[in-house]
Amino acid sequence: MRDDVELLIAGGGLTGLLLGLACAGAGLSVAVVDRQDPSALLADSFDGRSSAIGYGSHQVLEGIGLWPRLAGEAEPILEIRVADDNSPLFLHYDHRELETGVPLGYIVENRILRRALIDRLESIPNFRLLAPLAVDSISTSALGATALLSDGRQMRTRLVAAADGRSSPLRLAAGIRTIEWRYPQTSIVTTVRHERPHFGVAVEHFMPAGPFAILPMTGNRSSIVWTERAELAPRLAGLSDAAFAAELAARFGDFLGNVEPIGPRWMYPLTLLLAEEYVSTRLALVGEAAHTIHPIAGQGLNLGIRDIAALAELVIDARRLGLDIGADSLLWHYQQWRRFDTLALAAVTDGLNRLFSNSLAPIRLARDAGLAVVNRLPPLKRLLMRDAMGIVGDLPRLVRGEPL
Ligand SMILES: Cc1cc2nc3c(=O)[nH]c(=O)nc-3n(C[C@H](O)[C@H](O)[C@H](O)COP(=O)(O)OP(=O)(O)OC[C@H]3O[C@@H](n4cnc5c(N)ncnc54)[C@H](O)[C@@H]3O)c2cc1C
Repeated sequence: MRDDVELLIAGGGLTGLLLGLACAGAGLSVAVVDRQDPSALLADSFDGRSSAIGYGSHQVLEGIGLWPRLAGEAEPILEIRVADDNSPLFLHYDHRELETGVPLGYIVENRILRRALIDRLESIPNFRLLAPLAVDSISTSALGATALLSDGRQMRTRLVAAADGRSSPLRLAAGIRTIEWRYPQTSIVTTVRHERPHFGVAVEHFMPAGPFAILPMTGNRSSIVWTERAELAPRLAGLSDAAFAAELAARFGDFLGNVEPIGPRWMYPLTLLLAEEYVSTRLALVGEAAHTIHPIAGQGLNLGIRDIAALAELVIDARRLGLDIGADSLLWHYQQWRRFDTLALAAVTDGLNRLFSNSLAPIRLARDAGLAVVNRLPPLKRLLMRDAMGIVGDLPRLVRGEPL
């Protein structure tokens, strides 16, 4: 029997759409199924976040032909300053300290990324976005997979990618177990306009309740990720405009002059989730379906982008050789490739959050000394900078700046 599509992707969040573009752009027939209405996905009210995209992820977006649509609306990150509450010791990353001189990364608004993806995908004839529809179930065999969609339609395919988010119904149905816990923290996300330019400097202040991040956006704007105790966050987010602006200014400081919140406030309860397996028969998990990590280092989407770069490479190579793109051996290779990166980042982000989100004096002394030591050891600092840029380890071709 003929397949309806070679690759079926459940979930049209950023990860699912990026995988769709990487594979459809390389000639595969691809369908993305999402249960949300596309007009809701594209509404300004859908997702208030901006993403810090590391330089390695930028290479992927360039390689799949998306960057020209984003470049004018992405702000380069030239420096990162990490400060521990009011301590004078801080860690300072500067892109000029690296021999390449490229930006450490970029800040891109999620709504702009989503819009660029959908616009680009609309021009690819071998791509289909099926929405609003859910993938209700999949049945798999050695020969292929069949997905049952919520309108009763059945779609035959070689491989199903579950990009269906942290509660991934497909992961649950496949019986893949997870390690997960909820952080006692919620992030409040909003945008501010400030009097003075930020010059591409991202700032992270560690406060006892959690990190307060200031991410440079285009114009004199910054995206705020303000992590607070879970029980306090709704009260803060619900304050009047004037009271909210005062609380925010107290944390922001005056280094950029007057600061004015613009636009809505969003809240994101924080969790950690790691799938014990990333694959099952003819099924591969990507993005938050496989891992959800603390946003302390702005790395969740970057991990998902490395997932899709790795999976797309394996799938495209297999297809060029006339091999089965849903074969167990390919899926096993994908899992082996992605596991270490994910576990390492989950452990580092969880550890950083535990180390910095408290005000115990001895811990504070030790961590401030640690920041100062890293700051004075250029080779170690350069390694950490490259790690934050997502350009360390066994990297997929797209991350290395090579074509698929
Ligand atoms: C406060 C905060 C700040 C962050 N900042 C950064 C940052 O600076 N840099 C960074 O790299 N990362 C960051 N992240 C992480 C990043 O936002 C996420 O990793 C990313 O958005 C996850 O995308 P996803 O596509 O994997 O999942 P989701 O966005 O959850 O998408 C899943 C999609 O699947 C669909 N779906 C679910 N079930 C089905 C079904 N059965 N059938 C069809 N469709 C289905 C849903 O409708 C949804 O559209 C941050 C996260 C938070 C919480």
